Amino acid sequence: MPEEQHVPVRGFNARETREALRKANLHFLRKWGNISAKRKSLPSPMIKTCCTHGMHVVASPVNSSFRARALQVVHRQRVRGLLTLAIETSCDDTSVAILEKHGAKTTASQGSTPARRATLHFHEKVTANNSQFRGIHPLVAAQSHQSTLANLVDTALKSLPLSSSYAHGATYTTPVRSESQKSIHKKPDFISVTRGPGMRSSLTTGLDTAKGLAVAFQVPLVAVNHMQAHALTPRLVSALEGKHGGAPVPEFPFMSLLVSGGHTMLVYSTSTNDHKILASTVDIAIGDFLDKIARDIVPPADLEAGGDIMYGRLLEKFVFSDGAGGRNYTAPAMPSRSHLKGRWGWKFAPPLHQEGAKASMKFSFSGLGSAVERCFRDRAKDVSLCERLDIGQEAMRVAFEHLASRVVAALGKLSYSIDPLNPISTLVVSGGVASNKFLKTVLRSFLDARGYSHVQIASPPPALCTDNAAMIAWVGMEMFEAGDKAAMSIASE
Ligand code: AMP
Ligand code: ZN
Repeated sequence: MPEEQHVPVRGFNARETREALRKANLHFLRKWGNISAKRKSLPSPMIKTCCTHGMHVVASPVNSSFRARALQVVHRQRVRGLLTLAIETSCDDTSVAILEKHGAKTTASQGSTPARRATLHFHEKVTANNSQFRGIHPLVAAQSHQSTLANLVDTALKSLPLSSSYAHGATYTTPVRSESQKSIHKKPDFISVTRGPGMRSSLTTGLDTAKGLAVAFQVPLVAVNHMQAHALTPRLVSALEGKHGGAPVPEFPFMSLLVSGGHTMLVYSTSTNDHKILASTVDIAIGDFLDKIARDIVPPADLEAGGDIMYGRLLEKFVFSDGAGGRNYTAPAMPSRSHLKGRWGWKFAPPLHQEGAKASMKFSFSGLGSAVERCFRDRAKDVSLCERLDIGQEAMRVAFEHLASRVVAALGKLSYSIDPLNPISTLVVSGGVASNKFLKTVLRSFLDARGYSHVQIASPPPALCTDNAAMIAWVGMEMFEAGDKAAMSIASE
């Protein structure tokens, strides 16, 4: 008698059986990689996976017809790949993506390395017009999602791959109507959606729409954490660029600096689902800080011409008009206590000033924001262009050095506890503020100056740094492949 209990798969309904087979197949893949290459040495079957959402399948040994069906699923998935429609509505951006991850086919040029290509069939975003509030108004954002999302999904469906590329029947296809014709497209295998964190009124629109789509298509729903998606975006980028021989995949473990309008976090990731927050802000987010100071520093005409409320981006453009992102910057050899500009008479002290082992693993930006504000308050004359540029550069420098100090402190602290044979070799920098070139210059210089020149910085292109549905689709893929799916009763968080 085998030690483990055999749970008859025929006890499940068709969908559950497919799910069990898929998970069985995942286990095969995880343990044996390229099955076709190793089929001869494949041992008597083992399926011992899936303890997800209450369904537990332990089956050993597996009879030959079960095994054959499992291999059929492996084969079908390898040929078809996976397709998801993803929705992101955590803040003021309504975004929809259709992402396809191709099967693990090998090509002659790739030898036995599995191709990990992914195709973004559709990716669009509409940002709520909050310019009259000079910041994000939750009601305006929610109304924008309501008026935009269904239309965006409708447009996206037309980009689902045509079914002619798939030799499958109605189970896997869906009709899509356009003005002139009706065509048959591949149905998404599952729907991915942002569950949180974010503004509840915004998240709800996306989550409810995603549930409706999952029910209508009769496919699973995968609920994605927004910050996890920012952290894993470089893995999407390498899969997308893979077909052009692009960026290396950030392998686990890696560290992520997530810098956005709503968050500032340092995260240590050991797998798709294992993320530990090492540091976060005690007050406002770095993006919020930059947006606030930009409204004082950037001349009103430039703010007006900017056309949106990404004031942080306008600040970088104003301060580094050459687009070089302060390439002459060098990190101080030792932590410096204050940054006095004798010429103008103000100084910006580094927040929570400590470095190395003593550094508190916290970020803070509100004090620095107030110091910048004081430069503009009670001034008899308008602040000159030259002084504005200096204020902007100094404020960014102090804020970015503050971020960098926690990165190197965390790398130092972790070096004692992680496997020396598998050290952290990647720092992911993601979120809207990651598009800032000066930030990456400061981080690079700090890493080099503090003995971490082997740590590479992986930062997505600007379009994938800010909130977007492609990153949600990617994490949805990784979660779905790991057997994760959400209950239809799920709420935003
Ligand atoms: P997210 O919340 O991830 O969508 O990012 C939006 C935030 O990123 C806003 O606070 C923007 O001002 C900020 N941001 C976008 N581009 C830049 C940039 N180049 N430099 C600084 N901040 C930026
Ligand atoms: Zn974000």
